[in-house]
Amino acid sequence: KSAERIDHLLSRLGYCSRSEVRDLLREGRVRVAGELLRKASAKVDAALVWVDEEPIDHPHALYLLYHKPLGKVCAHDDPRAIYQDFPLRWRYRRPSLSSVGRLDRETSGVLLLTDDGDWLHHWTSPRRAIPRVYRVTLQEPLRGDAADILAAGTLMLEGEETPCRPAAMQHLTDQEILLTLTEGRYHEVRRMFAALDNLVLTLQREAFGPFVLGDLPPGQWRELTEPERTMEK
Ligand code: URA
Repeated sequence: KSAERIDHLLSRLGYCSRSEVRDLLREGRVRVAGELLRKASAKVDAALVWVDEEPIDHPHALYLLYHKPLGKVCAHDDPRAIYQDFPLRWRYRRPSLSSVGRLDRETSGVLLLTDDGDWLHHWTSPRRAIPRVYRVTLQEPLRGDAADILAAGTLMLEGEETPCRPAAMQHLTDQEILLTLTEGRYHEVRRMFAALDNLVLTLQREAFGPFVLGDLPPGQWRELTEPERTMEK
C-alpha cells in the first residue's frame, strides 16, 4: 500500500477532522512503527499507525457479510439505517461503506457491505447474473403452473419492459419455497408473486452468490476471509 499523509488518513478513517489530527499529534497519541509522530504532513504506511496505544481501525478496505434484520433500511440518512449496526466511527469513513444491492425494510438475510468500489461493482454488475436464493412464505398455496412460468422467464411485472429472468423454485412445503433469481429488481420477489396472484408473507435471503447466511444472527455481521473476498461467483 502506498504512503498517505497522516492527517488525510485519520480523517478519512473517521477518527476526527483533519485539523483535529494536529491535536492528536501534539498530544503524543499517534505512533508509527512505535515512534511518536508529530508532523501532520508526514506520509505513513497505514498498517504501521497506532492511535492511543492501538493499531488503527481497519486501515484498508472493509468486506462484510451482514444478516440484515427486519425493520432496517438500506439507506444512510434514515433513523432505521442498517449502518447503525456497525461501529460509529465507520459512519465517517471515506469512501463510505455501502451495501451490495439492497433488501427491503421487511426482508431479512444476507447482505454484503464494502467500501471497495471495484469489489462493489464486481458483485453488483447485472452482467454477472449472481444467483440470489430467497426463502419465501406465501399467503396461498402456489398456483400449479407457477414453477413453469418462473422457469420460462416470461413473467412480466407491472411497469417493466422486459420479463423477469428465469427463476428456479424448490418447494419446502405448500406455502414455503426457495426461489433463486439471477437479477435484483425493485421489490422483485414480492412483485413476482403478486403477478402469480399470491402474497409474500415473509422473505429472507439465504444466499448471495457463494455467500450464505449460515447461523449468523439477525443484526450481526462478520468480516469476509481473504479466500472469500477473492471468490468469483
Ligand atoms: N425481492 C424483494 O421483493 N425484496 C427484497 O428485499 C429482495 C428481493
